[in-house]
Amino acid sequence: MLIPLTDNHFHSTFSQDGSSSLNAIIERQYQFGLKVVTNTEHYDADPQDSGFGFYDYAAIEKEILRLRKLYPITILHGVEITYQKKFLDQINEFLDKYKFDLIIGSIHYIDGTLIRQWSEKAKDFTPYFKLLVELSKWKGMNVLGHLDYIKKYTKLYKEKEYLGFIETILKNIIKNNIALGINTSGFRRMAHEQYPSDSILKIYKDLGGELISIGSDSHHISHVGYGYGELLVKLKKIDFKKYYYFQNSTIINSFLI
Ligand SMILES: [Zn+2]
Ligand SMILES: [Zn+2]
Repeated sequence: MLIPLTDNHFHSTFSQDGSSSLNAIIERQYQFGLKVVTNTEHYDADPQDSGFGFYDYAAIEKEILRLRKLYPITILHGVEITYQKKFLDQINEFLDKYKFDLIIGSIHYIDGTLIRQWSEKAKDFTPYFKLLVELSKWKGMNVLGHLDYIKKYTKLYKEKEYLGFIETILKNIIKNNIALGINTSGFRRMAHEQYPSDSILKIYKDLGGELISIGSDSHHISHVGYGYGELLVKLKKIDFKKYYYFQNSTIINSFLI
């Protein structure tokens, strides 16, 4: 096998920052050879976010049902939750109301500031990792999203200064049966590698972590499958045996590497 067969993280114009239709993305994923894809549009509970109020479960579900009839691949319905403790009530209410195959928990805000603006100014990244530790204890998700995402925006971040936090985060998700999201969008950004880094993947493996969830974080058809071949080679080298996808947020399935 030359590429991972799943994409557990992608957006379309059903997200405020998406620029290809869901149909166009699925078409490209199918042509690329993917077998199981899980749509994960943004859900933001923060009124200051430009995507606030944008998530339309019924419209997305309707389109997924239509696309399932058109493409002979498994199309699942997930969501990417922007985690902020102060909005947990709204988040939980939203998650109780709808049925999802997969729930990704992601940090997009640090102390009320968008991660991009925050990371570009920060010199000490401790607040970001403290938030990730908090997120890693949240049992409402199946996948922890883009762990070292800040490297998208800054060159000042030095991973080795935060290894204590990183280990705590990884231990927490292993204990809670939450998968580690591996996000290939970093290949097309400043980082030039996936989130999280090779060394974090190795630490996770050494700690006994097995549950990995692969996604492209596509927002446009040109992002589909980006970095996929390179990632699979890395995963093999680190000696991961399988990668996973989720159904009804409970059933965990896998493909062999
Ligand atoms: Zn994200
Ligand atoms: Zn995303």
